[in-house]
Amino acid sequence: MSEPITHLIHHPYTPPPGFAAPQPGIFKASTVIFPNVAAMLARDWKHKSGYTYGLHGTPSTFLLEERLCALEGGTHCVLVPSGLAAIANVNLALLAAGDEVLIPDNAYGPNKALADGELKAFGIRHRLYDAMNPADLAAKISPATRLVWLEAAGSVTMEFPDLPQLVRICRERGVTTALDNTWGAGLAFRPFDLGDGLAVDVSAQALTKYPSGGGDVLMGSVITRDDALHLKLKLTHMRLGLGVGANDVETVLRSLPSIALRYRAHDQAARTLARWCMQQPVFAQVLHPALPGSPGHAHWAALCSEGGAAGLFSVMVDARFSTGQVHAFCDALQLFKIGYSWGGPISLVVPYDLAAMRAPWPPHLERGTLVRFSIGLEDVRDLQLDLSQAAQAALR
Ligand SMILES: *Cc1c(COP(=O)(O)O)cnc(C)c1O
Repeated sequence: MSEPITHLIHHPYTPPPGFAAPQPGIFKASTVIFPNVAAMLARDWKHKSGYTYGLHGTPSTFLLEERLCALEGGTHCVLVPSGLAAIANVNLALLAAGDEVLIPDNAYGPNKALADGELKAFGIRHRLYDAMNPADLAAKISPATRLVWLEAAGSVTMEFPDLPQLVRICRERGVTTALDNTWGAGLAFRPFDLGDGLAVDVSAQALTKYPSGGGDVLMGSVITRDDALHLKLKLTHMRLGLGVGANDVETVLRSLPSIALRYRAHDQAARTLARWCMQQPVFAQVLHPALPGSPGHAHWAALCSEGGAAGLFSVMVDARFSTGQVHAFCDALQLFKIGYSWGGPISLVVPYDLAAMRAPWPPHLERGTLVRFSIGLEDVRDLQLDLSQAAQAALR
């Protein structure tokens, strides 16, 4: 089977004899009972040679881990209670006092906040690099650099970097790369096969988004192909006690088979609406990597022309409108709800104060107030009418 989604849907599962249901059974445990002390001593949770304790894994978490590996093309996975916990797990496993981590300037905000908070307090330095300028990354890598975060597309401003080139720079210098792959979800591109033999070392994902698909679960994953890296991640995972709930595992297992279908639907609707927004003079700029003219479009086209894009885009509302008017625009939307996160059936909108997030103002962005849309699964015609009526009501 060539396509990952087919492999994922047909991923082997051994049901109880005579009960070959399409969905796997769900197992819950803190305690796992051993037949005797010898068996207890023989089992090794680190290498999945048996079950030892709920926190170390159950048949259900192992199955979800394997299916996520099938999706992303990795070989090892740890599950954590949120996407942010996945980022934290990577940082705490791979960094120590005196080390430095480089983070793209358009990274998911809490990644930077963690670096500025706990990592700094632990004596781990961080620097931001310009995700759209590989030379800037190359210049900032120092002998202390142990880890480089990557994100494609970047959060909120949606720039798509030259991911293979960034990975090449890190590899040439022997620096580990960790991709926040929430946007790509294992569908837009293959993180462990970026062409020219290039691959990220670690792929972290917020399963909260498309893998869950419901806006009702928080979970994260950290996937690698490297045994030694995985062992480090797993040991930290265990020492921090980052368990996930069986009900949440069940929900993600239930949602995964439809992920490619949903991703494509979110993508198509988002592109339709982003194109429509481009024609509206109230929006000075539309940021969607699949749209020609958007920052990094050529990099997106080189990597994702088959895989597509997530259902996210941002607009820069023209600077002639006040922040108050932009907030009124968001408030006037009826179908788009005001709320964080994305990947569920309901379309969401969030205005961002970009000046507080990115200083100086990125030269490739028009001045104005940024609004990010996460497109759900509603009929795109209704969403377009909603955007239209809210713009007419508030952006005059
Ligand atoms: C949402 C998100 C996260 C964090 O996921 P949570 O499960 O909400 O903690 C991390 N990275 C990116 C890019 C995200 O969009």
